Amino acid sequence: MQEREIILRLSMGIAAQSGHEDTAVTLMRNADIALNAAKAKGKGRYERYQPQQHAALSDRMDLESDLARAIERRQLVLHYQPSVRLKDGVLLGFEALVRWNHPRRGLVSPADFIALADETGLIVPLQRWVLGQACADGRHWQIQFPAAAAMQISVNVSRRGLEDADLVTDVATACTAAAFAPARLVLELTHGASLKGNDALARLLALHESGVRLALDDFGAGSAPLTALRDLPVDIVKLDHSFVARMGANATDATVARAVIDLGNTLGMMTMADGIERAEQFSALRGIGCVAGQGYFLSRPLPAAAVERLLADCDAAGVELRLPSLRLDKVS
Ligand code: C2E
Ligand code: MG
Repeated sequence: MQEREIILRLSMGIAAQSGHEDTAVTLMRNADIALNAAKAKGKGRYERYQPQQHAALSDRMDLESDLARAIERRQLVLHYQPSVRLKDGVLLGFEALVRWNHPRRGLVSPADFIALADETGLIVPLQRWVLGQACADGRHWQIQFPAAAAMQISVNVSRRGLEDADLVTDVATACTAAAFAPARLVLELTHGASLKGNDALARLLALHESGVRLALDDFGAGSAPLTALRDLPVDIVKLDHSFVARMGANATDATVARAVIDLGNTLGMMTMADGIERAEQFSALRGIGCVAGQGYFLSRPLPAAAVERLLADCDAAGVELRLPSLRLDKVS
């Protein structure tokens, strides 16, 4: 038998008795909580139990059990952020962004629960609900506002969401149930790493084959590597907002932004910038050939009712949909 060296790494949680009321069970539970904290901080280390770790863990457990019921209790809502073509301000579509209307915590941002949904697997029903709702809303707007027929609706798919074996079926079911054309649906991938030879890659190829368009989200940051451009049938590249934020102030960021836009345009993909907050960023991005964009300068994410008012205004304004708030003559 071949000898092999096995390297073990150890994580440790330490709990000390703080008073006579501590039972063996309490001590073991506290050590376990400290062990979880050690693992969460990167493994291979030790943590001593602190009472606030218990509070954080029970808060997380509360959030987890609330999230499990959020869908059936109809507490999830979608807000939609418009994206426009930078050269003329024509509205291209909307990105669906989930929010959780929590009875005690108020409107909870996805930054505070998507990671939890990913870790617990709750992302699967959540993603199914988002797909169904976004396709239904998209179809409703297409019927109400014929000029909106060509608009695209984008839905974010997380790393764990991509691992869901039912993703292809769920997308097809959502499109069919709402009579929403798959070609109008964009899936935004925040994680393009290690897809090669993986089931997720086969799923994305099948989705693309069905007409769904794929976007690489947060490109340049996050973890979508250049190989994702080679391995995946990418239709849209979304430049990460961190580059947009620093474009004016930092020469390196401006160069990277230009390189990403050049790369996307050369590969025949639609280039889009995220997080445009100011007129200068809008014109700088347009100047380097970025085709589309979204951000607070154009519009914040809107509840569905506000999208309808926006589409009604756009429809009244002309054949092509334009954001009424966008005055291109004010942008150099
Ligand atoms: P993302 O896909 O990169 O979405 C863009 C985020 O930037 C949104 O935050 C949006 O509100 C925000 N944003 C848009 N314009 C601006 C701007 O000009 N300035 C700044 N500072 N921020 C801007 P939000 O809605 O909090 O979503 C955060 C992230 O949560 C999303 O990032 C996405 O990764 C994830 N997420 C949201 N909805 C879903 C969902 O339904 N499923 C999954 N898997 N993830 C989602
Ligand atoms: Mg996105």
